[in-house]
Amino acid sequence: MKGKVYLVGAGPGDPELLTLKALRLLRQADAVLHDDLVSPQILTLMSRKAQLHDVGKRSGRRSTHQVEIHFLMIELARQGLQVVRLKGGDPLVFGRAGEEMQALRKAGIEFEVVPGVTAAFAAAASVEIPLTLRRTASSLLIMTGQFADDRPLPDLRSMIESGTTIALYMPGADPRETVNKLAAAGVPRETPCAVVSRASTSAQQTTITTLEKLPSVSAQAKPSILILGDVVRLSKLRHLDFQALSAEFLPVETDQRQEATGA
Ligand code: SAH
Repeated sequence: MKGKVYLVGAGPGDPELLTLKALRLLRQADAVLHDDLVSPQILTLMSRKAQLHDVGKRSGRRSTHQVEIHFLMIELARQGLQVVRLKGGDPLVFGRAGEEMQALRKAGIEFEVVPGVTAAFAAAASVEIPLTLRRTASSLLIMTGQFADDRPLPDLRSMIESGTTIALYMPGADPRETVNKLAAAGVPRETPCAVVSRASTSAQQTTITTLEKLPSVSAQAKPSILILGDVVRLSKLRHLDFQALSAEFLPVETDQRQEATGA
């Protein structure tokens, strides 16, 4: 049989958020190469006969390691194996699938991309934040807090003003630094924000606050994602957490809320 590589999204952690296609491919795979972010429960779903390769990134070895992953995928496919390259969330969102697709194309290996539920969607669902909202939020920006070349964040002022919700992946280990970076990019410090860590798993933690208060409230386990924008006010956690917040966060009137939700 001809070898093939499937770049598969494993979703955010909860095995029930795998697609049926991902599940079928995992069960049929001859070899599975997985990242650190893929939950152990998901790995139990693969065929016992399949080879399992943990290709999680170790710090300081990023670029070399990526090349090794390409090499391994290509070798296994050349042996005629059905290879699942399993990635957390969606493979095309900060998953380095771009490089992997290039390498596979160059090597003449057949491949297919299978989408998965990305972290922003799982995080928003778990705390009931609409990522878009009629009249309030007309666009969603998926962005990283960490650029490979350490450049600052792009200018976000006009985006926030025009009602863009920001989903910030890889927000960074130091919340103070994250806040400073976002503020320097033009995000007002009073912008509502949600930090969701380990979204969709039993270890999920959530904090709803404002950007400026983020450093004082968040000690979140990794991986975590930040959702910023007015839509955060609509989270189901709003009521509980906002009681502890200062007055500037409270004046969301019932009428406005009803209008905003289209009720
Ligand atoms: N391809 C993945 C993203 C990989 S980048 C996806 O589509 O979700 C890694 C970043 O994703 C983490 O730093 C974190 O910001 C986010 N992330 C991944 N899984 C997460 C989870 N279960 N909960 C919260 N954030 C998560």
